[in-house]
Amino acid sequence: MNYISTRGNAQSVSASQAVINGIAPDGGLYVPESFPALDLDFDRLKDLSYQEIANEIFSAFFTDYTEEEIAAIVAGSYGEQWDDDTIVPIHQEGNKFYLELFHGPTIAFKDIALQALPRLLSTAAKKHGLKSKLLILAATSGDTGTAAMAGFGDVPGTEIVVFYPEVGVSEIQKQQMITEAAKNAHVIAITGNFDDAQTAVKTLFADDELGKELAAGKFQFSSANSINIGRLIPQIVYYIYGYAQLVKSGAIKAGDEIDIVVPTGNFGNIMASYYASRIGLPVREFIVASNENNVLTDFFNTGVYDRKRPFTVSTSPAMDILVSSNLERLLYFASDATEVANYMEDLTEKGSYTVSPEVRENLAKFKAGFASNEEVAATIKEVFEDTHYLLDPHTAVARFVAPSFDDGTVQLIASTASPFKFPQTVLEVLGESAKHERVALDQLALISGVPVPEQVAKLFTKEVRHTLVIDPEEIKETLKETIL
Ligand SMILES: *Cc1c(COP(=O)(O)O)cnc(C)c1O
Repeated sequence: MNYISTRGNAQSVSASQAVINGIAPDGGLYVPESFPALDLDFDRLKDLSYQEIANEIFSAFFTDYTEEEIAAIVAGSYGEQWDDDTIVPIHQEGNKFYLELFHGPTIAFKDIALQALPRLLSTAAKKHGLKSKLLILAATSGDTGTAAMAGFGDVPGTEIVVFYPEVGVSEIQKQQMITEAAKNAHVIAITGNFDDAQTAVKTLFADDELGKELAAGKFQFSSANSINIGRLIPQIVYYIYGYAQLVKSGAIKAGDEIDIVVPTGNFGNIMASYYASRIGLPVREFIVASNENNVLTDFFNTGVYDRKRPFTVSTSPAMDILVSSNLERLLYFASDATEVANYMEDLTEKGSYTVSPEVRENLAKFKAGFASNEEVAATIKEVFEDTHYLLDPHTAVARFVAPSFDDGTVQLIASTASPFKFPQTVLEVLGESAKHERVALDQLALISGVPVPEQVAKLFTKEVRHTLVIDPEEIKETLKETIL
């Protein structure tokens, strides 16, 4: 099975080539040309481990990797670095089931994909006989950079450079970055905010002269971005596994439809649930939950995608996004490559696009809603007071939206971060406060009775290894000095 571009103007490529390319040469995203026929008998799958199900899904989608390669990638990605043997434990609250995706190295859901991507990439590089080292550049406002380093750290044949803004990164995220110990990881602060950092990094990718100098030094750019198919496919696994566990526990019978509720930013997570449905997961509705940056809510409710609106800084920062890149993949399945190319052109040129009535009809299973910061706070408080279960602000967005579409069907909520990743926000909601996140961690543990996860408990005693701060104009010289 090959991968084709959503915009229809690129050659179809093998899975491993799609992983190496990241984005298709015509600017589109790679999608599978057909969905694999899989035996999703949930009465069988309910007795399989996360890793066993991962093996089946990976093999079905990454068809040019050998069985041995897949087995090694899965074993390496979902091993001892997870703090729960089941990888994604489930917590029940009535007909709502939280699929906890935050038990990896950085206690947020990006670990699921970013543990697998580096292994998929370096295996692909070997298969294709690439002589150059892969250079991963990332501008990060927090979650992606730390998860990418946790994944790429000490992976042979890769070098990773993370740029983060001095302004707008939480204490915990900053501490995670500056204490990163992997030898191939480089962390550099940039004066300014996230936009400044991202703009500076984009100039590097676009710099042909730099590209040549790097090639001479035996480096080739690569990306850990969530548009890589190597990040999307691993996320199908937890929906299949989660459903199988619901069958096992007796919450549903094999074949029953469920609702999937996802706190959404770049649309990768919920897109994976759609892929899961295309290979046999029974889904009634896909519920897209946004924060105050509710461009997706408007899109699913009106058919108009309009990015021309103020950007809001919310308490769920990983969802502060106005252009949801992976939505392009859904549009492809609801229309065709020509139409997608037109929509994306409109988005670039006019800042908005309107889909046809047929496309809206094809998206009927997608429902959308959003939560304000106040609603998020009230939800965390209410769920904690009623059930003593602590939500992080991202998961709380989903929990707030879920009841609007509840007809009694089982709702599987993607729980994307540990509350201990955002301790100050959560603590304030519960009527307490702390000057430093380091202090907030302990206070939160005391109130909730949940111990501070080990991944962050030891964070503030780790050695600081990265102290460089640069101005955006210095980024190119700094990169060359760091790498070459
Ligand atoms: C990245 C992220 C999201 C958004 O996921 P998408 O796949 O981009 O929609 C939600 N919650 C957390 C905690 C995240 O880190």
